[in-house]
Amino acid sequence: MKNYHDKPNLNDMSLEEIEGFISHLGKEKYRARQIMKWLHRSGALSFDEMTNLSKVFREEIEKRARITLPLIEEIQESRDGTKKVLLRLEDDCFIESVLIREKNRWTQCVSTQVGCAMGCRFCLTGRYGLKRNLLPSEIAGQITALRFNTPEGSDIKNIVMMGMGEPLANYENTLKAIRIITSDAGAGFSKRKITISTCGITPMIRRLGEDVSVNLAVSLNAPDDKRRSYLMPVNKKFPLKELIDACRDYPMPRRRMITFEYIVMAGVNDSEGDAKMLASLLRGVHCKFNLIPFNEFPGSEFKRPSDKRVRAFQDILIHEHYTTMTRPSKGDDISAACGQLSGRRHGFPLPDSHPCGILGEK
Ligand code: SAH
Ligand code: SF4
Repeated sequence: MKNYHDKPNLNDMSLEEIEGFISHLGKEKYRARQIMKWLHRSGALSFDEMTNLSKVFREEIEKRARITLPLIEEIQESRDGTKKVLLRLEDDCFIESVLIREKNRWTQCVSTQVGCAMGCRFCLTGRYGLKRNLLPSEIAGQITALRFNTPEGSDIKNIVMMGMGEPLANYENTLKAIRIITSDAGAGFSKRKITISTCGITPMIRRLGEDVSVNLAVSLNAPDDKRRSYLMPVNKKFPLKELIDACRDYPMPRRRMITFEYIVMAGVNDSEGDAKMLASLLRGVHCKFNLIPFNEFPGSEFKRPSDKRVRAFQDILIHEHYTTMTRPSKGDDISAACGQLSGRRHGFPLPDSHPCGILGEK
């Protein structure tokens, strides 16, 4: 990515980094906490707002650092209340965040990359390839931007990293963003309220488990290697056995279950036999399923199965003692579908729902 600024963005820094940064200016450590609060508890965008810092100090930092956040460009609201937010980044790339309502709480679905390099066949985001990784300030900043600039901001209670991109392919920045949003000096989000959704980059799942305790969702989508490798090229490198072993070992926050997301595609992976195969594949893993009926889009090679078919699939998994949900379509009139976010303004046809598998975890 081109460096547009020679000054670092304070929103890219952890508490410890801000402490280090201001210690060079001869300032006390506790000032870093004050700055963190302005940035993440007030969404401050200028140093002038930081009224508990002396004017001289504010001018000193301003010479050496900048503060920026993704800018809300447009908000589209669906009939069911789902909101799709288009955000502009400093280099004029666009990304999207989606807000999904559940009673009086909101879940924010956050992007981690501009585009995605993983090339899953069913995913429109994947078709556009990867433009670039998002910075910590752009991942955490989606949350800050919405918290302080939308009416529902203060009711955002859950974060799912399930927007554009593969979070574990942008590991360091995603991890740092999590550290920033969960810092008690900043927004203080609970790690239990954060879920990372991955296509299954096995070594990074293991690393994530060592580094931070957040919920894990895995996009599974097929009950055997042959079909999964066809649908998701990542499976050729990290096949099912390896993936499921990593899931088995993943230390979930207390009493939580791993979520397996499964896009149900007509005639591809939706037979009764497939449901049974899936049930035995995951036997012994502390997990639940989220079924996502495929979202069709023009030119897509797959079709959405009938509701009856999805229900039958779900019933088998339930019968096999798995907690299994089928998410109702959300945001169907504003093209806010999971895996379909493009960061473009109405530029191309999009499918018609937002079935984010794990949304609404309390
Ligand atoms: N890269 C991560 C997170 C973003 S994709 C991952 O793959 O998990 C978010 C979710 O959207 C994934 O579960 C993916 O399987 C799903 N998805 C992608 N395309 C879809 C489509 N056409 N219909 C339904 N769900 C889709
Ligand atoms: Fe990337 Fe996830 Fe889409 Fe696959 S499903 S292409 S990993 S965003």
